Amino acid sequence: MNEFDLIEQYFNWQGDDDKSAIGDDCALLSIEANQQLATSVDTLIEGVHFPPETAAADIAYKALAVNLSDLAAMGATPQYFTLALTLPEFNRHWLEQFSSVLKSLADEYRINLVGGDTTKGKLSITINVTGTVPKGRALLRSAAKVGDVIFVSNTLGDAALAWQQIQQGINPSQPLLTQFNTPNPQIQLGQALLGVANACIDISDGLEQDLGHILHASKVGASINLSDIPLSQALIAYLKKTNDWCLPLAGGDDYQLCFSVPEACISRLQAIKRQLGVRLTKIGIITQNQQLKIAGLDKTCQSYRHF
Ligand SMILES: [Mg+2]
Repeated sequence: MNEFDLIEQYFNWQGDDDKSAIGDDCALLSIEANQQLATSVDTLIEGVHFPPETAAADIAYKALAVNLSDLAAMGATPQYFTLALTLPEFNRHWLEQFSSVLKSLADEYRINLVGGDTTKGKLSITINVTGTVPKGRALLRSAAKVGDVIFVSNTLGDAALAWQQIQQGINPSQPLLTQFNTPNPQIQLGQALLGVANACIDISDGLEQDLGHILHASKVGASINLSDIPLSQALIAYLKKTNDWCLPLAGGDDYQLCFSVPEACISRLQAIKRQLGVRLTKIGIITQNQQLKIAGLDKTCQSYRHF
């Protein structure tokens, strides 16, 4: 099967609108005048970001979900994505699984596949997402203010625990595996935070490092409490045994949002919490001195380093 047949068979989905069909040299994207484009790209490589035995369905899900998470961090609405797929061989079963999950996640978040590329080589998936956000209103890393309250969504460390167990040859429990393979991008939460949160980031490399990006960009510090970090029962049990706080602080792969909210907007946050049914936990405050202080931590953790 040649490249064109492969695209036609597995990736030429009829979009909801006629402005996003695959087939031209470029995709032409239209946006409304009062919107800005938000765009981001992420690559997943076999053996680096997922183990070789990972199912095609899980690879497809995660490749798109981690990109959607970047849109969520800006409060953007997903619109379009492109896909560059490098495959070691033509494998019909793999491609069927991959394209079917990719399509169902794309449908769920109403994002259209508008172009891409396929090549032969070591398995790697690059997805570029584009979303829209009202002009001048995107959530930025640089907007945290002294006195803001810092929140995170849901729980931290579950995906990192799953990854650690996989590497140790242990089968993770289903809830941990779900967090690792099929993280839920917090798109609705990001959109709801527009006009409520000051700064926001998605936690991909660990809370310590990603909150650090907000602090650096905003030229502020933060004081957070270890005991306030939201944890699943599995993480609580793990910490009781090991006291290894590096997993929730620096494990990465959480794809939760970490954001700062001015005191005056906290009541609006309560409404968002009820409306979306999402767990939002206060973990600390933004401070003036440009440091991250973690009360209760007796050692520093090494966050995920890309190189
Ligand atoms: Mg990010």
